[in-house]
Amino acid sequence: MLRRSVYNRQFQRTIGNISKKSNLTIGLIPGDGIGKEVIPSGRQVLETIGPKHGLTFNFIDLQAGWQTFLDTGKALPVETVKTLRENCDGALFGAVQSPTTKVEGYSSPIVALRKELGLYANIRPVKSVDTPGNKKVDMVIVRENTEDLYIKLEKTYIDEKTGTRVADATKRISEVATRRIAKIALDIALQRLKNNGNVQLTVTHKSNVLSQSDGLFREVCKEVFESNKTLYSDIQYNEQIIDSMVYRLFREPECFDVIVAPNLYGDILSDGAAALVGSLGVVPSANVGPGIVIGEPCHGSAPDIAGKGISNPIATIRSTALMLEFLGHSQAAQDIQTAVDSNLREDKIKTPDLGGKNSTSDVVNDVIRRL
Ligand code: ATP
Repeated sequence: MLRRSVYNRQFQRTIGNISKKSNLTIGLIPGDGIGKEVIPSGRQVLETIGPKHGLTFNFIDLQAGWQTFLDTGKALPVETVKTLRENCDGALFGAVQSPTTKVEGYSSPIVALRKELGLYANIRPVKSVDTPGNKKVDMVIVRENTEDLYIKLEKTYIDEKTGTRVADATKRISEVATRRIAKIALDIALQRLKNNGNVQLTVTHKSNVLSQSDGLFREVCKEVFESNKTLYSDIQYNEQIIDSMVYRLFREPECFDVIVAPNLYGDILSDGAAALVGSLGVVPSANVGPGIVIGEPCHGSAPDIAGKGISNPIATIRSTALMLEFLGHSQAAQDIQTAVDSNLREDKIKTPDLGGKNSTSDVVNDVIRRL
Protein backbone atom coordinates (compact mmCIF):
# COMPACT_ATOMS: atom_id res chain seq x y z
CA MET A 1 0.00 0.00 0.00
CA LEU A 2 1.26 3.52 -0.79
CA ARG A 3 2.32 5.82 2.01
CA ARG A 4 -0.02 8.47 3.45
CA SER A 5 2.19 11.33 2.30
CA VAL A 6 1.75 10.09 -1.28
CA TYR A 7 -2.05 10.22 -0.93
CA ASN A 8 -1.88 13.76 0.43
CA ARG A 9 0.50 15.02 -2.23
CA GLN A 10 -1.57 13.43 -4.98
CA PHE A 11 -4.77 14.99 -3.66
CA GLN A 12 -3.19 18.42 -3.36
CA ARG A 13 -1.85 18.16 -6.89
CA THR A 14 -5.31 17.37 -8.25
CA ILE A 15 -7.11 20.08 -6.33
CA GLY A 16 -4.41 22.57 -7.20
CA ASN A 17 -5.85 25.40 -5.13
CA ILE A 18 -4.83 24.36 -1.65
CA SER A 19 -3.39 27.68 -0.57
CA LYS A 20 -2.80 27.08 3.14
CA LYS A 21 -3.16 30.88 3.51
CA SER A 22 -3.97 31.84 7.07
CA ASN A 23 -5.70 35.12 6.22
CA LEU A 24 -8.69 34.13 4.14
CA THR A 25 -11.31 36.19 2.34
CA ILE A 26 -14.66 34.44 2.26
CA GLY A 27 -17.67 35.50 0.18
CA LEU A 28 -21.07 34.96 1.80
CA ILE A 29 -23.96 34.43 -0.63
CA PRO A 30 -27.09 33.55 1.38
CA GLY A 31 -29.47 33.62 -1.61
CA ASP A 32 -33.13 32.96 -0.82
CA GLY A 33 -35.35 31.25 1.75
CA ILE A 34 -33.48 29.37 4.46
CA GLY A 35 -30.17 30.27 2.78
CA LYS A 36 -30.48 33.55 4.71
CA GLU A 37 -30.89 31.63 7.98
CA VAL A 38 -28.13 29.06 7.58
CA ILE A 39 -25.26 31.03 6.02
CA PRO A 40 -24.71 33.17 9.16
CA SER A 41 -24.04 29.91 11.03
CA GLY A 42 -21.07 29.22 8.72
CA ARG A 43 -19.68 32.65 9.54
CA GLN A 44 -20.15 32.15 13.30
CA VAL A 45 -18.34 28.82 13.18
CA LEU A 46 -15.42 30.32 11.22
CA GLU A 47 -15.18 33.20 13.69
CA THR A 48 -15.00 30.69 16.53
CA ILE A 49 -12.55 28.25 14.99
CA GLY A 50 -10.23 30.93 13.50
CA PRO A 51 -8.33 31.97 16.66
CA LYS A 52 -7.84 28.34 17.69
CA HIS A 53 -5.94 27.61 14.46
CA GLY A 54 -4.25 30.95 13.77
CA LEU A 55 -6.72 31.77 10.98
CA THR A 56 -8.31 35.13 10.30
CA PHE A 57 -11.30 35.68 8.06
CA ASN A 58 -12.43 38.67 6.10
CA PHE A 59 -16.08 38.31 5.03
CA ILE A 60 -17.71 39.90 1.98
CA ASP A 61 -21.52 39.83 1.65
CA LEU A 62 -22.62 39.06 -1.90
CA GLN A 63 -25.94 38.91 -3.72
CA ALA A 64 -27.50 36.21 -5.92
CA GLY A 65 -30.85 34.47 -6.28
CA TRP A 66 -34.49 34.93 -7.11
CA GLN A 67 -34.98 37.98 -4.86
CA THR A 68 -31.88 39.57 -6.38
CA PHE A 69 -33.40 38.91 -9.81
CA LEU A 70 -36.69 40.54 -8.75
CA ASP A 71 -34.82 43.54 -7.33
CA THR A 72 -32.19 44.06 -10.03
CA GLY A 73 -33.17 42.01 -13.09
CA LYS A 74 -30.07 39.81 -12.65
CA ALA A 75 -29.99 36.55 -10.65
CA LEU A 76 -26.18 36.59 -10.60
CA PRO A 77 -24.85 40.15 -10.60
CA VAL A 78 -21.54 40.69 -12.43
CA GLU A 79 -20.18 42.21 -9.21
CA THR A 80 -20.70 38.93 -7.34
CA VAL A 81 -18.73 36.92 -9.89
CA LYS A 82 -15.99 39.56 -10.10
CA THR A 83 -15.56 39.71 -6.31
CA LEU A 84 -15.46 35.93 -6.00
CA ARG A 85 -12.93 35.65 -8.80
CA GLU A 86 -10.66 38.53 -7.79
CA ASN A 87 -10.93 38.77 -4.01
CA CYS A 88 -12.11 35.53 -2.45
CA ASP A 89 -10.29 32.37 -1.44
CA GLY A 90 -13.53 30.61 -0.65
CA ALA A 91 -17.26 31.24 -0.33
CA LEU A 92 -20.40 29.90 1.26
CA PHE A 93 -23.51 29.70 -0.89
CA GLY A 94 -26.93 29.17 0.76
CA ALA A 95 -29.73 28.28 -1.64
CA VAL A 96 -31.78 29.88 -4.35
CA GLN A 97 -35.44 29.60 -5.04
CA SER A 98 -35.92 28.91 -8.74
CA PRO A 99 -39.28 29.12 -10.50
CA THR A 100 -40.42 25.79 -11.95
CA THR A 101 -41.53 27.36 -15.21
CA LYS A 102 -39.41 29.50 -17.49
CA VAL A 103 -39.13 33.16 -16.51
CA GLU A 104 -37.59 35.33 -19.21
CA GLY A 105 -34.09 36.46 -18.22
CA TYR A 106 -33.81 34.19 -15.18
CA SER A 107 -31.49 31.24 -14.87
CA SER A 108 -30.08 29.47 -11.83
CA PRO A 109 -27.19 31.49 -10.38
CA ILE A 110 -25.42 28.50 -8.83
CA VAL A 111 -25.35 26.66 -12.16
CA ALA A 112 -23.97 29.85 -13.76
CA LEU A 113 -21.42 30.32 -10.95
CA ARG A 114 -20.12 26.78 -11.32
CA LYS A 115 -19.60 27.48 -15.01
CA GLU A 116 -18.12 30.99 -14.65
CA LEU A 117 -15.62 29.94 -11.97
CA GLY A 118 -14.74 26.54 -13.42
CA LEU A 119 -16.06 24.69 -10.34
CA TYR A 120 -15.98 21.35 -12.06
CA ALA A 121 -16.55 19.03 -9.11
CA ASN A 122 -19.31 18.93 -6.53
CA ILE A 123 -18.17 16.83 -3.60
CA ARG A 124 -20.95 15.56 -1.35
CA PRO A 125 -20.04 13.48 1.69
CA VAL A 126 -23.02 11.63 3.19
CA LYS A 127 -22.29 10.30 6.65
CA SER A 128 -24.32 8.95 9.53
CA VAL A 129 -23.20 9.22 13.12
CA ASP A 130 -22.13 6.01 14.75
CA THR A 131 -24.94 5.13 17.12
CA PRO A 132 -26.31 1.72 18.04
CA GLY A 133 -28.95 0.56 15.57
CA ASN A 134 -27.95 3.11 12.93
CA LYS A 135 -26.97 1.71 9.51
CA LYS A 136 -23.42 2.90 8.88
CA VAL A 137 -23.39 5.33 5.99
CA ASP A 138 -20.10 6.94 5.04
CA MET A 139 -19.84 7.76 1.37
CA VAL A 140 -18.77 10.63 -0.85
CA ILE A 141 -20.75 11.38 -3.98
CA VAL A 142 -18.56 13.12 -6.55
CA ARG A 143 -20.84 14.87 -8.99
CA GLU A 144 -19.62 16.28 -12.30
CA ASN A 145 -20.61 19.92 -12.18
CA THR A 146 -20.37 21.46 -15.64
CA GLU A 147 -22.18 19.43 -18.27
CA ASP A 148 -24.70 16.61 -18.84
CA LEU A 149 -28.29 17.96 -19.13
CA TYR A 150 -27.22 21.06 -17.21
CA ILE A 151 -25.79 22.69 -20.33
CA LYS A 152 -29.45 23.63 -20.78
CA LEU A 153 -29.68 23.18 -24.53
CA GLU A 154 -33.42 22.70 -24.83
CA LYS A 155 -35.92 23.36 -27.55
CA THR A 156 -39.66 22.97 -27.89
CA TYR A 157 -41.27 22.46 -31.31
CA ILE A 158 -44.41 21.13 -32.92
CA ASP A 159 -44.33 17.54 -34.06
CA GLU A 160 -45.40 17.44 -37.70
CA LYS A 161 -47.28 14.17 -37.41
CA THR A 162 -49.36 14.88 -34.30
CA GLY A 163 -49.41 18.68 -34.34
CA THR A 164 -48.54 18.65 -30.64
CA ARG A 165 -45.55 20.02 -28.72
CA VAL A 166 -42.30 18.09 -28.22
CA ALA A 167 -39.38 19.23 -26.07
CA ASP A 168 -35.79 18.05 -26.56
CA ALA A 169 -32.83 18.46 -24.21
CA THR A 170 -29.18 17.80 -25.02
CA LYS A 171 -27.10 15.67 -22.68
CA ARG A 172 -23.40 16.41 -23.08
CA ILE A 173 -20.60 14.23 -21.74
CA SER A 174 -17.06 15.19 -22.72
CA GLU A 175 -13.79 13.38 -22.34
CA VAL A 176 -12.12 16.39 -20.68
CA ALA A 177 -14.79 16.87 -18.00
CA THR A 178 -15.06 13.13 -17.35
CA ARG A 179 -11.31 12.74 -17.04
CA ARG A 180 -10.99 15.46 -14.41
CA ILE A 181 -13.99 14.28 -12.37
CA ALA A 182 -12.72 10.68 -12.44
CA LYS A 183 -9.31 11.91 -11.30
CA ILE A 184 -10.64 13.87 -8.34
CA ALA A 185 -12.91 10.96 -7.34
CA LEU A 186 -9.96 8.56 -7.43
CA ASP A 187 -7.85 10.97 -5.39
CA ILE A 188 -10.62 11.32 -2.81
CA ALA A 189 -10.70 7.51 -2.65
CA LEU A 190 -6.93 7.58 -2.06
CA GLN A 191 -7.41 10.04 0.79
CA ARG A 192 -9.96 7.73 2.36
CA LEU A 193 -7.52 4.84 2.20
CA LYS A 194 -5.68 6.65 4.98
CA ASN A 195 -8.47 5.88 7.43
CA ASN A 196 -9.76 2.68 5.98
CA GLY A 197 -7.57 0.06 4.33
CA ASN A 198 -10.23 -0.98 1.87
CA VAL A 199 -11.81 1.63 -0.38
CA GLN A 200 -13.86 1.29 -3.52
CA LEU A 201 -14.82 3.66 -6.29
CA THR A 202 -18.20 3.13 -7.96
CA VAL A 203 -18.78 4.68 -11.38
CA THR A 204 -22.49 5.09 -12.05
CA HIS A 205 -24.00 5.38 -15.51
CA LYS A 206 -26.81 4.20 -17.81
CA SER A 207 -24.69 3.07 -20.73
CA ASN A 208 -27.02 0.16 -21.50
CA VAL A 209 -29.43 2.80 -22.89
CA LEU A 210 -27.22 5.85 -23.45
CA SER A 211 -24.38 3.94 -25.03
CA GLN A 212 -22.61 7.01 -26.45
CA SER A 213 -22.92 9.63 -23.71
CA ASP A 214 -22.93 7.47 -20.57
CA GLY A 215 -20.82 4.98 -22.51
CA LEU A 216 -18.13 7.65 -22.86
CA PHE A 217 -18.38 8.53 -19.16
CA ARG A 218 -17.86 4.93 -18.18
CA GLU A 219 -15.05 4.36 -20.66
CA VAL A 220 -13.07 7.45 -19.67
CA CYS A 221 -13.42 6.76 -15.92
CA LYS A 222 -12.01 3.29 -16.49
CA GLU A 223 -9.17 4.65 -18.62
CA VAL A 224 -8.17 7.11 -15.87
CA PHE A 225 -8.13 4.30 -13.33
CA GLU A 226 -6.20 1.92 -15.54
CA SER A 227 -3.66 4.44 -16.75
CA ASN A 228 -2.64 5.13 -13.13
CA LYS A 229 -2.77 1.58 -11.84
CA THR A 230 0.31 1.91 -9.64
CA LEU A 231 -1.08 4.92 -7.82
CA TYR A 232 -4.58 3.54 -7.53
CA SER A 233 -3.70 -0.12 -6.99
CA ASP A 234 -5.34 -0.25 -3.53
CA ILE A 235 -8.68 1.06 -4.80
CA GLN A 236 -11.34 -1.43 -5.79
CA TYR A 237 -12.95 -0.24 -9.04
CA ASN A 238 -16.67 -0.93 -9.66
CA GLU A 239 -19.34 0.12 -12.12
CA GLN A 240 -23.06 0.22 -11.40
CA ILE A 241 -26.03 1.12 -13.61
CA ILE A 242 -27.86 4.05 -12.03
CA ASP A 243 -31.21 2.30 -11.45
CA SER A 244 -29.70 -0.69 -9.66
CA MET A 245 -27.37 1.76 -7.90
CA VAL A 246 -30.39 3.50 -6.32
CA TYR A 247 -31.79 0.14 -5.20
CA ARG A 248 -28.47 -0.92 -3.65
CA LEU A 249 -27.92 2.51 -2.13
CA PHE A 250 -31.10 2.13 -0.07
CA ARG A 251 -30.69 -1.56 0.75
CA GLU A 252 -27.01 -1.64 1.56
CA PRO A 253 -25.65 1.91 1.85
CA GLU A 254 -22.74 0.65 3.94
CA CYS A 255 -21.29 -0.93 0.76
CA PHE A 256 -20.45 2.39 -0.89
CA ASP A 257 -17.38 4.56 -0.45
CA VAL A 258 -16.77 6.99 -3.29
CA ILE A 259 -19.31 7.29 -6.07
CA VAL A 260 -18.61 9.26 -9.23
CA ALA A 261 -21.56 10.35 -11.33
CA PRO A 262 -22.52 12.58 -14.24
CA ASN A 263 -24.22 15.82 -13.16
CA LEU A 264 -27.90 14.78 -13.07
CA TYR A 265 -27.48 11.33 -11.51
CA GLY A 266 -25.14 12.88 -8.94
CA ASP A 267 -27.76 15.45 -7.99
CA ILE A 268 -30.55 12.92 -7.61
CA LEU A 269 -28.39 10.34 -5.81
CA SER A 270 -27.23 12.82 -3.20
CA ASP A 271 -30.74 14.03 -2.34
CA GLY A 272 -31.78 10.36 -2.08
CA ALA A 273 -28.75 9.52 0.05
CA ALA A 274 -29.70 12.38 2.39
CA ALA A 275 -32.76 10.33 3.37
CA LEU A 276 -30.36 7.67 4.70
CA VAL A 277 -28.89 10.06 7.22
CA GLY A 278 -32.05 11.65 8.52
CA SER A 279 -32.46 14.92 6.65
CA LEU A 280 -31.35 17.05 3.73
CA GLY A 281 -30.46 19.52 6.45
CA VAL A 282 -27.29 17.62 7.39
CA VAL A 283 -25.75 16.97 3.96
CA PRO A 284 -22.98 19.35 2.85
CA SER A 285 -21.16 19.91 -0.41
CA ALA A 286 -18.17 21.73 -1.82
CA ASN A 287 -17.91 23.07 -5.34
CA VAL A 288 -14.27 22.71 -6.24
CA GLY A 289 -12.25 24.20 -9.07
CA PRO A 290 -8.78 25.53 -9.70
CA GLY A 291 -9.28 29.02 -8.25
CA ILE A 292 -11.84 28.89 -5.47
CA VAL A 293 -13.89 26.54 -3.29
CA ILE A 294 -17.57 27.21 -2.58
CA GLY A 295 -19.21 25.39 0.31
CA GLU A 296 -22.93 24.81 -0.32
CA PRO A 297 -25.50 22.82 1.68
CA CYS A 298 -27.19 20.20 -0.53
CA HIS A 299 -30.67 21.40 0.35
CA GLY A 300 -32.66 24.06 -1.46
CA SER A 301 -34.34 27.22 -0.21
CA ALA A 302 -37.09 25.22 1.61
CA PRO A 303 -39.85 27.82 1.26
CA ASP A 304 -42.10 25.66 3.49
CA ILE A 305 -40.01 26.45 6.58
CA ALA A 306 -38.29 29.70 5.59
CA GLY A 307 -38.62 32.50 8.12
CA LYS A 308 -39.54 30.19 11.01
CA GLY A 309 -36.02 29.96 12.47
CA ILE A 310 -36.10 26.15 12.48
CA SER A 311 -33.90 25.29 9.50
CA ASN A 312 -31.13 22.85 10.27
CA PRO A 313 -27.74 24.63 10.03
CA ILE A 314 -25.67 21.43 10.07
CA ALA A 315 -25.40 21.05 6.28
CA THR A 316 -23.97 24.57 6.12
CA ILE A 317 -21.63 24.04 9.07
CA ARG A 318 -20.33 20.85 7.47
CA SER A 319 -19.99 22.68 4.12
CA THR A 320 -17.92 25.31 5.93
CA ALA A 321 -15.62 22.56 7.20
CA LEU A 322 -15.34 21.09 3.70
CA MET A 323 -14.43 24.50 2.30
CA LEU A 324 -11.66 24.83 4.91
CA GLU A 325 -10.41 21.35 4.10
CA PHE A 326 -10.09 22.19 0.41
CA LEU A 327 -8.29 25.40 1.36
CA GLY A 328 -5.69 23.26 3.12
CA HIS A 329 -6.83 23.60 6.75
CA SER A 330 -7.65 19.99 7.52
CA GLN A 331 -7.28 20.20 11.28
CA ALA A 332 -9.69 23.13 11.62
CA ALA A 333 -12.08 21.27 9.30
CA GLN A 334 -11.78 18.11 11.35
CA ASP A 335 -12.52 20.00 14.60
CA ILE A 336 -15.73 21.37 13.10
CA GLN A 337 -16.79 17.91 11.88
CA THR A 338 -16.08 16.44 15.32
CA ALA A 339 -18.20 19.12 17.04
CA VAL A 340 -21.08 18.44 14.62
CA ASP A 341 -20.81 14.66 15.07
CA SER A 342 -20.84 15.11 18.82
CA ASN A 343 -24.03 17.23 18.62
CA LEU A 344 -25.68 14.59 16.40
CA ARG A 345 -24.51 11.67 18.53
CA GLU A 346 -25.89 13.23 21.70
CA ASP A 347 -29.19 13.68 19.87
CA LYS A 348 -30.60 16.33 22.22
CA ILE A 349 -30.33 19.78 20.63
CA LYS A 350 -31.87 19.29 17.18
CA THR A 351 -34.18 21.01 14.74
CA PRO A 352 -37.62 19.56 13.80
CA ASP A 353 -36.39 17.85 10.59
CA LEU A 354 -34.45 15.49 12.90
CA GLY A 355 -37.40 15.13 15.26
CA GLY A 356 -36.34 17.88 17.70
CA LYS A 357 -37.89 21.10 18.95
CA ASN A 358 -34.88 23.39 18.83
CA SER A 359 -34.21 26.42 16.67
CA THR A 360 -31.44 27.06 14.16
CA SER A 361 -29.56 29.22 16.65
CA ASP A 362 -29.85 26.61 19.45
CA VAL A 363 -28.07 24.11 17.20
CA VAL A 364 -25.41 26.63 16.09
CA ASN A 365 -24.72 27.58 19.73
CA ASP A 366 -24.47 23.95 20.73
CA VAL A 367 -21.94 23.19 17.96
CA ILE A 368 -19.95 26.31 18.87
CA ARG A 369 -19.90 25.26 22.54
CA ARG A 370 -18.38 21.94 21.48
CA LEU A 371 -15.66 23.52 19.31
P1 ATP B 1 -36.08 24.53 -3.76
O1 ATP B 1 -37.18 24.86 -4.69
O2 ATP B 1 -35.27 25.72 -3.37
O3 ATP B 1 -35.22 23.35 -4.19
P2 ATP B 1 -37.54 22.68 -2.09
O4 ATP B 1 -38.40 22.88 -0.88
O5 ATP B 1 -38.14 22.11 -3.31
O6 ATP B 1 -36.79 24.06 -2.38
P3 ATP B 1 -35.48 21.70 -0.45
O7 ATP B 1 -35.24 23.05 0.02
O8 ATP B 1 -34.29 20.90 -0.77
O9 ATP B 1 -36.35 21.68 -1.72
O10 ATP B 1 -36.37 20.98 0.66
C1 ATP B 1 -36.95 19.70 0.57
C2 ATP B 1 -37.58 19.39 1.93
O11 ATP B 1 -36.55 19.25 2.91
C3 ATP B 1 -38.51 20.50 2.44
O12 ATP B 1 -39.61 19.93 3.09
C4 ATP B 1 -37.65 21.26 3.42
O13 ATP B 1 -38.38 21.87 4.46
C5 ATP B 1 -36.71 20.19 3.97
N1 ATP B 1 -35.42 20.79 4.27
C6 ATP B 1 -34.47 21.14 3.36
N2 ATP B 1 -33.43 21.70 3.97
C7 ATP B 1 -33.70 21.73 5.28
C8 ATP B 1 -33.00 22.22 6.42
N3 ATP B 1 -31.78 22.79 6.33
N4 ATP B 1 -33.59 22.10 7.62
C9 ATP B 1 -34.80 21.52 7.73
N5 ATP B 1 -35.51 21.04 6.70
C10 ATP B 1 -34.97 21.15 5.48
